[in-house]
Amino acid sequence: MNDPLGFIPEELRALEREALLREVRALGSPQEPTVTLDGERLILLASNNYLGLATDPRVVAAAAEAARRWGAGSGSARLISGGTVLHDELEARLATLKRAEAALLFSSGYLANLGTISALVGRGDAIFSDELNHASIIDGARLSQAAVHVYRHADPSHLTALLREHRGGRRLVVTDTVFSMDGDLAPLPSIVEACEREDAILMVDEAHATGVVGPGGRGTVAHFGLDDRVPVIMGTLSKALGSAGGYIAGSRDLIAFLRNRARAFVFDTAPPPPSVAAAIVAIDVLEREPERPERARALAGRLADGLREAGFDVPEPAAAIVPVVVGSSENSLALARTLRTAGVLVPAIRPPSVAPGTARLRATVMATHSDEQIETAIRTFAEARVGSGA
Ligand code: PMP
Repeated sequence: MNDPLGFIPEELRALEREALLREVRALGSPQEPTVTLDGERLILLASNNYLGLATDPRVVAAAAEAARRWGAGSGSARLISGGTVLHDELEARLATLKRAEAALLFSSGYLANLGTISALVGRGDAIFSDELNHASIIDGARLSQAAVHVYRHADPSHLTALLREHRGGRRLVVTDTVFSMDGDLAPLPSIVEACEREDAILMVDEAHATGVVGPGGRGTVAHFGLDDRVPVIMGTLSKALGSAGGYIAGSRDLIAFLRNRARAFVFDTAPPPPSVAAAIVAIDVLEREPERPERARALAGRLADGLREAGFDVPEPAAAIVPVVVGSSENSLALARTLRTAGVLVPAIRPPSVAPGTARLRATVMATHSDEQIETAIRTFAEARVGSGA
């Protein structure tokens, strides 16, 4: 008898042969500057907890207190009975942070992208998407059934050409503002102009920018002084804000529309109260301690400089992400293994997360890393490079 799931072991073997098999790590400690893995203490350069807020005692206390007061789960979708005054409070805080009229929570950033893109456009419409956009944008675009036009990375002239070529129907331009695997900034002012000229809707994904980029960590839109000119701003609570969940900030009408039309909101259980309360206090901390985003950016800059001095090819980081492109999947895995043995945890990012031939180590810093930890990491990279003969 044929096993209908027989393709799975075959695919797994193929992934392993191509150095593309992924495995889940099980840390024995929280997302702090150092973590325990298999009993060893390692410097963590692999977390999107950019401001250290996931383990900040104030944020943790808010989550614990909310669990006691409101329970561990929310019980149902917002439109049924899962919404609490906590959810409303967080939405109001996110709207203020993003200088928008209103905001809407989703259970994750992934769902915020899926639900929003597929609500805004559909069959007969068009999406214009940067070639390096996050998978959740790509999947939202597929789900929407709109035609997808991919423009060259961070290239507003290519975007403009595509917009001129494809008129008719609703048109949605979507871009990450800080690219998740490259750490660079989208050229937002030119993209805004292109959208305004062409009457296209602009949606930006501030997942890696919120809490790190711009005045007070308000994001790339604020960094470029574009408040009021980006109608759809998406973000996540799961990175710099140290919690879990996603959101859209925009006009009251946009939010009322999404509450009715974004299926990933309508049919999904409301985010759990502890995550919501944690995010509220994380925003408090961000507003009171603007030195945190500055510290995260400064450490990323120092890490990039140090790695360059050690001979690696590293671009100038715009946020807390420092990519070290090594090329082949095998080499990226080998370097990640060497670093891990030497006490630094950095993930090897391989296709399909990045284009073939551009496998890399994606190092991320946290505002809570000490200078010494970053210097140790740089030395470890330098030794690994010498050791590998790269
Ligand atoms: N957008 C971008 C650019 C991301 O990097 C991520 C997370 N990897 C998401 C969206 C999804 O956010 P979340 O993890 O909250 O689902």
